[in-house]
Amino acid sequence: TRKETASLHDTIDEVLNVVRHHLDLDRVNLVKEFDPDVPSLVLDRNKIKQVFMNLIMNAKQAIAKEGEIRIRTRYVPTEGTEGVVHVDVEDTGCGIQPKDLSRIFDPFFTTKSTGEGTGLGLSVSYGIVKNHGGDILVQSEPGKGSTFTVVLPVTAEDE
Ligand code: ADP
Ligand code: MG
Repeated sequence: TRKETASLHDTIDEVLNVVRHHLDLDRVNLVKEFDPDVPSLVLDRNKIKQVFMNLIMNAKQAIAKEGEIRIRTRYVPTEGTEGVVHVDVEDTGCGIQPKDLSRIFDPFFTTKSTGEGTGLGLSVSYGIVKNHGGDILVQSEPGKGSTFTVVLPVTAEDE
C-alpha cells in the first residue's frame, strides 16, 4: 500500500472533476457539502479515488431520469480516539430492494444487465475501506434513493 497524509476533500474533488464528464448534469444535479472541520487523513489516494468513483457511478446509474447526487463530509469526534470522518454519497435513484441489501457487497453480485455491471465495484470498495480501518454503511428506500456512508478513521491503523 502507498498511504500518505492527504486532504480527503482534494482527493474527492479530483474524482468529481473526472466523473463530472460522465454525469448528464442537465438531469443529474451534483451537490457538494464539505465540512471544513474534516482533518487530514492517512490515505492510499488512488485507492480511495476508486472507492468514490464506484459509489458515484452507482448513484448515477440508479437515477433513471432526473435526480440528485449529494456528497457530504462530516467530522465525527469520538471518545478516546481522534475521531472518524463520514462521507455520504446520497442519491435520489431507484433504491435497493431489502432482499438485495445483504448481497450488494458480494463479489459479482449485480442487478445490472450483462455488460453494464461486473458486480465488483462495491466488493472492491469495501476491501479498500476496510484496509484503511474504516467501514461502508448503506441505507436505502426502494423508489426513493440510497445513501452509502464511507467511515474513515482519523488515525489510520498500520496494516
Ligand atoms: P455493479 O455496479 O457492477 O452492478 P456494484 O458492486 O457496484 O456492481 O453494485 C452491486 C449492486 O448493488 C448493483 O448492481 C445494484 O443492484 C446495487 N447498488 C449499488 N449502488 C446502488 C445505488 N446507489 N442505488 C441502487 N442500487 C445500487
Ligand atoms: Mg458499480
